[in-house]
Amino acid sequence: MQKKEKINVGVLGATGSVGQKFIQLLENHPYFNLTEVAASDRSAGKKYKDAVNWILPTPIPEGVADLEVKKCEPGLESRLVFSALDSSVAGHIESDMAKNGYIVVSNSKNHRMDNDVPLLIPEVNPGHLELIKCQKYGEGAIVTNPNCSTIGMVIALKPLLDTFGLEAVNVVTMQALSGAGYPGVSSLDSIDNVIPFIGGEEAKLESEPLKILGSLDGDSIKDVDIRISAQTNRVAVLDGHMETVQVNLKKKASAEEIIECWKAFRSEPQNLELPLAPLRPIYYFTEEKYPQPRLHRNIDKAMAVSIGRLRKCNLFDYKFVVLSHNTVRGAAGGAILCAELMKAKGYIK
Ligand code: NAP
Repeated sequence: MQKKEKINVGVLGATGSVGQKFIQLLENHPYFNLTEVAASDRSAGKKYKDAVNWILPTPIPEGVADLEVKKCEPGLESRLVFSALDSSVAGHIESDMAKNGYIVVSNSKNHRMDNDVPLLIPEVNPGHLELIKCQKYGEGAIVTNPNCSTIGMVIALKPLLDTFGLEAVNVVTMQALSGAGYPGVSSLDSIDNVIPFIGGEEAKLESEPLKILGSLDGDSIKDVDIRISAQTNRVAVLDGHMETVQVNLKKKASAEEIIECWKAFRSEPQNLELPLAPLRPIYYFTEEKYPQPRLHRNIDKAMAVSIGRLRKCNLFDYKFVVLSHNTVRGAAGGAILCAELMKAKGYIK
C-alpha cells in the first residue's frame, strides 16, 4: 500500500508508556500513517520530542519527533485514533471522540465492559466486532483491547475451550513493572521484592475472559460459564507477564492432545496475514525451565504467547505456565492488531 493510500491515525495519550509503544509500532506500518499525537494540557502545544520522556531503546521516529502535541478532543483530523489514555480521563474523552465520528481503539479499562463494546482479541473473538453495529455513536465507534494479563491467558484458554470445554480456571500472575506505566512502582518498592497486590487487576482477570470467550447474542455478549479465580503480583521484571494457570476441562484430554491443539491454533489474523499477527499465536516449549520473560517475551514481534510446563495437577486437571509481552501483545500491539482486523473486515473505510 502506498503512503498516500494509508489511513491517517492519531494516538491519544501519546506521551505515556503505552502511547510510546504505539508510536514505535506504527513506524512504517503498511496500513496506517501516524499523523497526530495528543495528550494532556501539560503537553499540548509542545513538540512531541519536548513533551515526552521517551523511554524506549529505539529513537523517536522521524516525522513524529517534531509533531505538535494536540489536545485529546474532537478536532483531530484522523478518523481512527488509538487510545493509551490514563483511565481517570479515558472514559469521557473516548465517548466524546466516538460521538463525534471517531473510531477509537482503546487500551483503557473504561469501556471494556459496556454491553455494546467489543472486548477484542483478534484471534479469539473476531466475530464480536459485529457489536459495533449496535453502538449509538453514528459514524464513530469504540473497540477495546483487554487487560494485559487477560490477553495472554485467554489466548491459551481459547483452543482448550473449543476442543475440550472448560469448567474452572485458577491463575496466579507475576506481572512486569512496565505494566504500571512510568515511573510506575518506585525502585525501593520493587527491587528485591514482590508486591502481592495490583489494584483492580484480579477483578479484571476474573470478569474479562467471560465476555471475550462469550457468544454474540443479539446486541450484547452472553458470558461463557467458567469459574475463574485470580491472584496478581508485581515482580521485578521489566516487560512480560508470566502466569501459572490451572484448568478443569469438561472432556478428558491427554497432555499430547492439549499441546497439539495449542500448536495447531490459528485464526483470522493468521488467515488474513495481518501485518502484526504472529505466524503462530502460541509457542509451546518442551524444556522444563521455559518460558522465561527475558528470553521469550519478544517471540514473533512480541505478539506470540509462550506456554510451557503442561503437567497433571492434584487439584485441577492440568497446570501450565503462560508468558506474553504486556505492552506489545497486552497493549499497543494488541490494539493495532484489532485495527488491522477492522480494516481487513471493512469496519474502517
Ligand atoms: P501513562 O504512562 O501514565 O500515560 C498516560 C497518558 O495519558 C499520557 O500520555 C498522559 O499525557 C495522558 N493523560 C493523562 N491525563 C490526561 C488528561 N487529563 N487529558 C489527556 N491526556 C491525559 O500510562 P500507560 O502505562 O501508558 O497506560 C495508558 C493506559 O493503558 C492506561 O489506561 C492503562 O491502564 C492501559 N494499559 C497499560 C498497559 C501497560 O502495560 N502499561 C497495558 C494495558 C493497558 P501527559 O504526558 O501529557 O500527562
